[in-house]
Amino acid sequence: MKKKKTNWISIIAVVVIAAVAGLGYSLYSFYSSGSAERGIVICDPENPSDCLWQDHMHFLVLISAGGADDVQNLPLEKGDLDKPHTHEERNVIHWHSSVPYDPVRQEAIDKSVFTLSASLASIGVEMPDGGKVFVKKKGGSWEYAQNQGGYVWDDSDIIFVTTDSSANEEIVSELEASGISLPYLGAG
Ligand SMILES: [Zn+2]
Repeated sequence: MKKKKTNWISIIAVVVIAAVAGLGYSLYSFYSSGSAERGIVICDPENPSDCLWQDHMHFLVLISAGGADDVQNLPLEKGDLDKPHTHEERNVIHWHSSVPYDPVRQEAIDKSVFTLSASLASIGVEMPDGGKVFVKKKGGSWEYAQNQGGYVWDDSDIIFVTTDSSANEEIVSELEASGISLPYLGAG
């Protein structure tokens, strides 16, 4: 009886050691690639250039035919969970999944899923015709986004899309004055 118990403990110990060693390798790959400020990069120990990056990111997107007080409500709880999607927070798009990662360039291999237009498309929303895109990055100020619908969003961005024909500088100052901020985000 006693002997059998000892064997079980040995087996558990071997499994735990193997698990810790595996984790060690992943963390080593992660740190040795000097990678991502955020999220987790996991590389295949057999093939260290074969990596996945996973993270949980959100951005707020406001689509308007005019100013910041005339915003369209985007659909809630919409989109595949492995792509950009929404939960119960109004106009917040979430992404929590994993994508192939280039450990040399230290970025996702294909960023097209993170463009504004692709992220809107994944919740069934089209970029409005003639919509102009403005972005406020975390800790930054409002700016006109040079690549518009092709803008690759980042965690905590606030994005404003408007069909208002006012000059960009005018829209930027209106946005600065609006005090728009990221809402409280739940666990999803
Ligand atoms: Zn989610």
